[in-house]
Amino acid sequence: MPPARPGDAAAPFPAHCPTRNDAKAMDAVDPLADARAAFALPPGAIYLDGNSLGALPRATPERVAALLREEWGRDLIAGWNKHGWMAMSARLGDKIARLIGAAPGTVVVGDSTSINLFKALAAALAAAPGRTTILSERGNFPTDLYMAEGLAALLDKGHRLKIVDTPAQIAGAIDADTAVVMLTHVDYKTGALHDMAATTARAHAAGARIVWDLAHSAGAVPLDLTAARADYAVGCGYKYLNGGPGAPAFLYVAERHHADFRQPLQGWLGHAQPFAFEPSYRPAPGIAAAIVGSPPVIAMAALEVGVDIFLRQDMGAVRAKSEALTEIFRTLVMSRGGAFGIECASPAAPEARGSQVSFRHPKAYEIVQALIARGVTGDFRAPDIMRFGFAPLYLRYVDAWDAAAHLIDTVESRAYEEPRYAVRQAVT
Ligand SMILES: *Cc1c(COP(=O)(O)O)cnc(C)c1O
Repeated sequence: MPPARPGDAAAPFPAHCPTRNDAKAMDAVDPLADARAAFALPPGAIYLDGNSLGALPRATPERVAALLREEWGRDLIAGWNKHGWMAMSARLGDKIARLIGAAPGTVVVGDSTSINLFKALAAALAAAPGRTTILSERGNFPTDLYMAEGLAALLDKGHRLKIVDTPAQIAGAIDADTAVVMLTHVDYKTGALHDMAATTARAHAAGARIVWDLAHSAGAVPLDLTAARADYAVGCGYKYLNGGPGAPAFLYVAERHHADFRQPLQGWLGHAQPFAFEPSYRPAPGIAAAIVGSPPVIAMAALEVGVDIFLRQDMGAVRAKSEALTEIFRTLVMSRGGAFGIECASPAAPEARGSQVSFRHPKAYEIVQALIARGVTGDFRAPDIMRFGFAPLYLRYVDAWDAAAHLIDTVESRAYEEPRYAVRQAVT
């Protein structure tokens, strides 16, 4: 549904704020403006949920259709050799490695982020005999905490998940019993960014390793895993990387840990010689030991289109635009939002947050639904967070301006009080 675009005449913001024309002027000189054409967005939509499910790249349908028609349809099983399907996990991993500042041969694509976390945590624990603590924070994404709990219970060797209440408590909680620190680089609710290099150094100083979850970082912020000396990392293909619903995830293992990399999901494709069909497992050398079963070839073809778009961009420019987009949106909303009960839940400094801005409001769910009905899509995270992600490749400054105007209009008019907006859906 096309949103009613508030014009400058009805500008709902104080005089010191940027006007809609200012936002248009920023778009006119935006060095990333052309990237928007690579995406198929519904007309009129203001899509601020690319941090949950990225937009469809225009080239994806044809790439996937061609694979089905010309590779699978024509070549059937010969496709594995002829089209390099089996090598896709590593080949696409090498592309993602370039985006996250990792060396070639350190990243594979496949499985979900949750499964990859399990492998990384298991490898970290196996490498730290005598240490029993997995350290994380209460605000971490639930799947990360659940996977750690499940792994500790499965191992049954006295491992435990220790959770601190705030990010500031992490450094002080790393001790001689810490086997691995597990953190999400950009907080999924607030967008707060961890200092990857400093926290990694702190873990290493105590003899611990660290697993970084890059779900809200890959494709959103410049990353340099090598320089930060990260041990392991995982991330999503379907968020900022625009790989499509359920796109496979990635797993990074630093080269210096390949020799002691042991993970219990010993699938045949992580074997040194899968087609020798030996009765016992022997891990493949290098990152290939992180592979479990058959690669999701069709899904990886879709993900590759999204990743290729990023490889043509300068991540410094992406970050600069992301900071500017989130800042114009935050400034506009907070210029009037406080009077209607809106509190900013994200760090005020653009450099301290990822590519999102979140607000708290007791009626956050209803407000998000009312905005969606106007064509402005954000999402709700229980209990009271409205979350707005800014994918710099396909969003314009005028979208940020319009979204802020709609949000203010929604709370000012109390449009969110319509009963239909209180109906809860399965996916929020
Ligand atoms: C989205 C997200 C995940 C998703 O995990 P899947 O197993 O791919 O569904 C994991 N961690 C974080 C921090 C996330 O935001």
